[in-house]
Amino acid sequence: MTRSQRAAPPITPTVMLRAEVALAAVPEDERVWVPQAPGVEFRPLLFNTVVGQWLNLLRVRRTGVISRHRHPGAVFGYVISGRWHYYEHPWMAETGHFVYEPPGEIHTLAVPEGCAEMITFFNITGAMIYLDDGGQQIGYEDVYTKIDMCREHYESVGLGGGFVDQFVC
Ligand code: FE
Repeated sequence: MTRSQRAAPPITPTVMLRAEVALAAVPEDERVWVPQAPGVEFRPLLFNTVVGQWLNLLRVRRTGVISRHRHPGAVFGYVISGRWHYYEHPWMAETGHFVYEPPGEIHTLAVPEGCAEMITFFNITGAMIYLDDGGQQIGYEDVYTKIDMCREHYESVGLGGGFVDQFVC
């Protein structure tokens, strides 16, 4: 009997499997949104502490510049509603658009006049480094600072700090 004629070993279920996640991305409970800046909130979906990755929705309810930033890792986005753009690029991210942001790029996120609300799903790995116009660092975020922000917010709105734990893997 050749090697290829032998029966393959059965594939069996993993015992120590993490629980799956299936939820309404846009939550019914407004308290799930975590304030990030005036008019800017995020809704956590998954915090991957092994590779330093976080997946969330970003909701912006103001126009103009939201942030200038650099991220050392790639960012993938999907626009759920509204529209936004980067001053450094000619395109507009419209509802239903997919966006890929290469590692190392510096860009200025802005929401145009007339857009009352934008919600975008972002998959970020590494860090967000916030910059002023002169390129000086004025802020920093990674998977752990995001978890800390959530814990503090959920504690303050009565959901309990442990509410964030469901998103951490
Ligand atoms: Fe970006």
